[in-house]
Amino acid sequence: MDKQKESPKTAKKRAKEMETLKIMIAIYCNGNHQGKKGWHLLSGHPEIRKLCPECQELETFALSRTAACPHMATKTFCSACKTPCYPNDRRNQIRKVMRYSGPRMIFHMPLKALKHGFLSAWQLLGRSK
Ligand SMILES: [Zn+2]
Repeated sequence: MDKQKESPKTAKKRAKEMETLKIMIAIYCNGNHQGKKGWHLLSGHPEIRKLCPECQELETFALSRTAACPHMATKTFCSACKTPCYPNDRRNQIRKVMRYSGPRMIFHMPLKALKHGFLSAWQLLGRSK
């Protein structure tokens, strides 16, 4: 699909997904790689975050996939998408992140998470585990 012709709604969805990815990876990194202190601070200040190099790399990758996703109008979430634009190792990585951050994110940011259709994507991942 031509990005130029993307509807405002789809563009917004894309932006939201990228934002959600950033928050989820930050929650995961703070909870798993940087001691237990960090992640709960994120709920109020999602911009205050520092990723370890590994998560920074994953974030860069995930954001680039979302930016280039041709299925944005119809899909729920990149890592739950049927199109294999994530190589297997990346897919496993992002699933791990989603499984960890999903419940925490829904708890801290229920509206944002629900709006995104995130719940369904998360359940889907849970089933295919
Ligand atoms: Zn990390």
